[in-house]
Amino acid sequence: MLTVKCSKCKRKLYKYLKIGKGRLWHCWRDRIVEDYTVHEGDRVMCSCGNEIGVNKGKYIKLKQHSFTYKGNITKK
Ligand SMILES: [Zn+2]
Repeated sequence: MLTVKCSKCKRKLYKYLKIGKGRLWHCWRDRIVEDYTVHEGDRVMCSCGNEIGVNKGKYIKLKQHSFTYKGNITKK
């Protein structure tokens, strides 16, 4: 499980089940376990106003450097 945090205010944004290695580019919505983000149209933001991504329907396309993450990646 990964914990994704806002790089500006360090608030928690997601608890996310990441499968496979590599950088985090998007969050598949069905793997988001907890969601603390604010949505405005298709923009996804932290509650501090930092824009972290765009809602593409099935996934959130993340804006690099707007967030940090740590935790374990699920191996499959
Ligand atoms: Zn924030």
